[in-house]
Amino acid sequence: MSHKFDFVEEELQLLERKGSYRRIRWVEEAPSPWVRINGDRVLLLCSNNYLGLINDPRLKEAAVRAIEEWGCGSGGSRSICGSLSLHRMLEERLARFHGSESALLFNSGYSANLSIIPSLMGDGEVIYSDELNHASIVDGCRLSRAAVQIYPHRDMRELESLLKGNQRKGKMIVTDGIFSMDGDIAPLTEIVELARKYSALTMVDDAHAIGVLGSKGSGSPEHFQLLHEIDVHVGTFGKALGCFGAYAAGRRSLIEFLINKGRVFLYTTALPPSVSATVLAGLDILEGEPERRERLWKNVDYLRRGLDRVGFDTMNSQAHIIPVLTREEGLTMEMDRRLLEKGVFVQGIRPPTVPEGKCRLRVTVMATHTQEDLDFALEKFEEVGRSLGIVHGSSTDCSRG
Ligand code: PLP
Repeated sequence: MSHKFDFVEEELQLLERKGSYRRIRWVEEAPSPWVRINGDRVLLLCSNNYLGLINDPRLKEAAVRAIEEWGCGSGGSRSICGSLSLHRMLEERLARFHGSESALLFNSGYSANLSIIPSLMGDGEVIYSDELNHASIVDGCRLSRAAVQIYPHRDMRELESLLKGNQRKGKMIVTDGIFSMDGDIAPLTEIVELARKYSALTMVDDAHAIGVLGSKGSGSPEHFQLLHEIDVHVGTFGKALGCFGAYAAGRRSLIEFLINKGRVFLYTTALPPSVSATVLAGLDILEGEPERRERLWKNVDYLRRGLDRVGFDTMNSQAHIIPVLTREEGLTMEMDRRLLEKGVFVQGIRPPTVPEGKCRLRVTVMATHTQEDLDFALEKFEEVGRSLGIVHGSSTDCSRG
């Protein structure tokens, strides 16, 4: 018998002993405010389907029509034969949406970051990266072989001192727009100023801000009125746009450069055509129905105020991702389990996704949650929070925002 797999078994046993073993949960129907898990109806409070578009009949119809017309796959990488005119239509639409010269599709946000960062930055150059940037940015930086300087979360003073102390020529500052686990927003105005002062490129990963921030929903640069100031603007389709895939928007030469230099872009099969059709339908809704965004922000405000009032620490979050700080891993996973038992599905988040001692429940709000849904969530959070000693004090009038 070969023992070559022993290390795998041992590692799994170790994770089990430490209480860190991850078991995925199977959601048994399309993500909407309520879903079925193990046959039980539970309130979904951890989906990135922020605007509720996943199940929208207009998106489904667009996907079905595209499959009938174009088939199921793209047939090749973008540089061989996977560049379909439907993809071009979406790229042109995305460029208009952002007021940029050009845009380029990628198969996911993760692969966009793995392709873009090493294309732009390499040996002898330096990337400045917020310590809480998404794992795909971290991996893109590693792959680039550039020097990486991590600055403390949103700390512009520290970022400036790092920039000042570095004489190298090629520099890029990269940040999440809305931070995926903390729900706060990058200080883009200051980042753009520093980038100008120290001649650095800027790259913003707006995976969580597209469809959510800005009056048109085009993300954090719009929110800060910096529409033409960000060099590389990355967005994804898997969150507010209710589909799958990603893109970068920027000047034409940047996009041409990424087409020529991006290894992940060059060597992977292009997105299925139905994705482009679905996203085009999603953009119509995003632009035509701003009330969805307004509803989302109302829900965010209501839920966060309710959680704060109960006594939870929501970590100064500013957006639809509301972390509920629980700190310790065991407690976090127990809270996650008890909430599910009571009908609320919200995922406990632990290392390596967040730092040791900063475990949390990552609550995400959707535009399609009703006030009754949010009241139900608040009631269950309070019950479980009290039973675990996370919140204390009077329970009266604590959940209504
Ligand atoms: N960038 C950020 C900031 C994210 O939060 C995520 C996913 O959650 C990604 C990139 C990856 O995007 P995708 O799921 O499309 O791979």
